[in-house]
Amino acid sequence: MPALATPPSQLAPFANEPYTDFTRPDKAAAARAALTKVRSQFGKEYDLLVAGQRRRSASKLESVNPSKPSEIVGIHQKGSEQDARDAVEAAYAYFATWSQVPIAERVQLLLRLGEIIRERKYEFDAWLVLEAGKTWAEAEGDVSEAIDFCEYYARRALKLANPEPTVQLSGERDEMVYLPLGVGVIIPPWNFPLAILLGMTGAALVTGNTVVIKPSSETPTVAAIFAGALLEAGFPAQSFSLFTGSGAAIGDVLVSHPKTRFISFTGSRDVGLHINELAAKTPKGQLWIKRVIAEMGGKDAIVVDREADLDQAVVGVLYSAFGYQGQKCSACSRAIVDEAVYDEFLEKLKAKVETLTVGPSDELSNYMGPVISSRAKQSILHYIEAGKKEGRLIAGGGSAEGEGYFIKPTVIADVDSKARIFQEEIFGPVLAVTKARDFDHAMELANDSEYGLTGAVFTSNRAKVDQAKRQFFVGNLYINRKCTGAMVGAHPFGGFNMSGTDSKAGGPDYLLQFVQGKSIAEKVS
Ligand code: NAD
Repeated sequence: MPALATPPSQLAPFANEPYTDFTRPDKAAAARAALTKVRSQFGKEYDLLVAGQRRRSASKLESVNPSKPSEIVGIHQKGSEQDARDAVEAAYAYFATWSQVPIAERVQLLLRLGEIIRERKYEFDAWLVLEAGKTWAEAEGDVSEAIDFCEYYARRALKLANPEPTVQLSGERDEMVYLPLGVGVIIPPWNFPLAILLGMTGAALVTGNTVVIKPSSETPTVAAIFAGALLEAGFPAQSFSLFTGSGAAIGDVLVSHPKTRFISFTGSRDVGLHINELAAKTPKGQLWIKRVIAEMGGKDAIVVDREADLDQAVVGVLYSAFGYQGQKCSACSRAIVDEAVYDEFLEKLKAKVETLTVGPSDELSNYMGPVISSRAKQSILHYIEAGKKEGRLIAGGGSAEGEGYFIKPTVIADVDSKARIFQEEIFGPVLAVTKARDFDHAMELANDSEYGLTGAVFTSNRAKVDQAKRQFFVGNLYINRKCTGAMVGAHPFGGFNMSGTDSKAGGPDYLLQFVQGKSIAEKVS
């Protein structure tokens, strides 16, 4: 096993990975060099990895650079149903071995993975810039979070292996241990193609499960590079499979397989609900009830009170709505503004939105890059057109210049709470603004959603802060700051209602979802 800089027994308390400052000329130069290196690997073909066995298929999947779709980033295999079944069977066969590997060794591998990503951080950043359309700052956030997950879950796994003692009955030795579940199917979205992929995979592996990873078809190259890093870190080739192919076609085979024990999914509400329903069926020969960990969509609101610092609120809404083109589950897509400051807020917001630059994400000067795909662009433009009828266009309102999938940051005001753009997740740079009579009404509007992921409140009034803490029904509430940018360890992440099972990724309890408790009582006298 490769030696670690710091062995698990001497780990310092967890601290978040610092972000690179790309305004520094030396860092910007390093970033550009990484882009050149990554670009030189464009068009390469990647294999399916079935428990260490490399496979190819007749049918291929191409991923493109959304800033310049004529550039093919990677060519990937479309795995068959038989490949999918083989992957689950292989993971099942190796589970007996992997689950017995001592926890210190599994932890060491996860820490080593974090070190590898840290050593090659700009290169990982560059893959995200070029395949996911992240700006440098957004890519750096994603890759840093991935490193955080390695460091944080490594520490939590050690804690789980040494749990709180149980009550000791007289004459007995009583204990509780945590066992891995079995084969997990890992299904991440494209919008955090490294952090969420790594978070779900790392949590499953470090707790002793084997996995089949089904990455998003939008970002398969990031997943292939990640799989390479898993092997380099020393994770046995049989402990995971990397399975590219159509989610809709292959997903059902993986989810419904009787040897699949759990599914760790992050993505849209509709796919999450479909997986949940399918996983609830018990095929012949299945010995367990499948566990589904599903983190899903959001329609996140920021409430701007009449007693708020308006400039601070405008900036908070701006970053939350348009960072990564609004393609974060935590993105603010609804601003609910007290009528006393409504017009002034809109005026200030419009001025700021018009300064945002949109263009290729590899250019450091752009604040916004492209949306992920042509299909996403069409869907967002469709919502913008619907929104123009449902409210008053304040800024943006259509495509931006260029070959890439660019959309102008768009603000639509005077939107009714029953309007589609107030209720449905658009997943693009579109903000609906709605007027509230007072703070009670603002809370009512904020909670008028089937989702419950993130939310923020801007106010200087303590009583209103307390009211929001009691009433705003979201998994992640922020006060006087943006509603995006959850940090591992500080802001355990996950939402209520149709936002999912509230798994609280990056939180102290997250790993419990990947294990089952076994209580042991031994009579000693
Ligand atoms: P998506 O639901 O379209 O796809 C997610 C994953 O599911 C992909 O890997 C896809 O290939 C796969 N998939 C599709 N159909 C499947 C099926 N039938 N069976 C199994 N897998 C299938 O979502 P997306 O477009 O990749 O990501 C955007 C969505 O993710 C948004 O709704 C966003 O809010 C949500 N999201 C949520 C969180 C969170 O923590 N709550 C974080 C990030 C993204």
